[in-house]
Amino acid sequence: MSSQGLEKYIMKYNFAYCGESSKYQIISKVGQGTFGEVFKARDTTYATIVAMKKIIIENQTEGFPITALREIRIFQSLKHENVVKLIEVCHTKGTQSTRYLPTYYLVLEYCDYDLAKLISNTKLTFRLSDIKTIVQQLLNGLYYIHSNNILHRDIKPANILITKNGVLKLADFGLSRAFSANQSDKENRYTNRVVTLWYRPPELLLGDRNYGPPIDLWGAGCIMAEMWTKSPIMQGNSEQQQLTLISKFCGLITTEVWPSVKSLDLFNKIDLPKVQQRRGIEKLKTYIKNAYACDLLEKLLILDPSKRYDANSALDHDFFYTDPLPSDLGKILTQHSQSILESHTSSRRPARDMQHPYHRISIGAARPTVIRTYDGYQDRIY
Ligand code: ATP
Ligand code: MG
Repeated sequence: MSSQGLEKYIMKYNFAYCGESSKYQIISKVGQGTFGEVFKARDTTYATIVAMKKIIIENQTEGFPITALREIRIFQSLKHENVVKLIEVCHTKGTQSTRYLPTYYLVLEYCDYDLAKLISNTKLTFRLSDIKTIVQQLLNGLYYIHSNNILHRDIKPANILITKNGVLKLADFGLSRAFSANQSDKENRYTNRVVTLWYRPPELLLGDRNYGPPIDLWGAGCIMAEMWTKSPIMQGNSEQQQLTLISKFCGLITTEVWPSVKSLDLFNKIDLPKVQQRRGIEKLKTYIKNAYACDLLEKLLILDPSKRYDANSALDHDFFYTDPLPSDLGKILTQHSQSILESHTSSRRPARDMQHPYHRISIGAARPTVIRTYDGYQDRIY
C-alpha cells in the first residue's frame, strides 16, 4: 500500500473497543504526570464530568506504550469504590498535522481533589476523624487490590484522588503489576526501580526483587504520617540518603530487627548508619498525641517487610474503632471547597511550615518522580 493509501486507511479505521473522543469537550488541564497530561472534560452524551488522561507515545516505532497497556489491563480487572474507575479508552481521529496518528486517552471517573493538593493546602487542617477516614479508605483500596494480586508500586499523595463527596480512590496504575505468591523453589525477579523515592520502602532501596504487598503499606505509613506533618517525612535526594533518613526515622537496619536483610544485594555494599539517636518516629509521636495513631504508624513503618502490618491487620486496628470515629469527609471538603480549588492553580509543592519543629528532621529536595524503566522480559506481566 502507498504511504498516501496507508494514511487514508488509518483515518477511516474504526478501532474496536476504543471509541472516538469527539463526544468529550475538554474543560481544563488538571494534572501533568510523567506519562501524560490529565484533563477535566464534559461527556456531551450523558452531561457528566470525566477526567481524560492523555497517553504520550514517545517513540512511534515502539507502538503503544507498555505502561499504558498495563494500566488499562489492570484498571479493567479492578472494580471497587476506592479505586478510580476506567470508563473507556478513546482516541482522536488522526489528521495531517499529527501525521494521521491518533491520540489516545484513558477516560476516568472525575475526582475533584488529589491528596497532595489537600495536604499542601495551608487553610485545611485535618481533624483526627478526617485522618481516620482517609487512612481507612486508603487501606480498603490496598486490601482490595492486594486481594486481587495487584501491587500498586507508586503509592504517594499525588496518586490518591478524593471525590467532592469525600470518597478516596487509588489512581495511577501506570507502574502497577500483577504478583504471584512465592513458590518455595522459585523467587520472583521484579524490578526494584519502582515507587517514588520518598515513599520507597527499605527492601526496594536495598535491592529486593522478590517483594510483595508490604511495599505499598510502607507508602501508606508515610502518607499517614504526612497527614500531621503536612510535608513528606523522609525527603532524600538519593537512594543512599533515603536509606539514611529511614534509619534515622524508623531505627537502625540490622539483622536483629530484620533477619533476612542479609540476603539483600545491597545490604553489605551500602553505608548504613550504625549509631542510633532518638528515632524521628518518637519525635513525631509527641506531636501526634494519639496512642492508637502512633501504634498503627509504627506498624506500617516496620523495616522488616515480613513483620510490617498488611492492609487487613491495619484495618482491624483500634485506631479506627475508638473515638473520634472516622468522619464524613464530604462535609469538610464542602466547607473548604473554595480555598481548596483556589490552591489547585498554585504550586504542587507542599508548603513547608518551617515553624514546625518536626520539619527539622526532613531534608528538602525537589519532589522526585519514578523513572519508568523496566527490566525487559523479566518484568513483563502479560
Ligand atoms: P506521575 O507519573 O506523575 O505519577 P501520571 O502521568 O501517571 O503521573 P496520574 O498520576 O494518573 O498521571 O495523573 C496526574 C495527576 O492528574 C494526578 O496527580 C491528579 O492530580 C490528576 N488526575 C489524575 N486522574 C484524575 C482523575 N480521575 N480526576 C481528577 N484528576 C486526576
Ligand atoms: Mg501519578
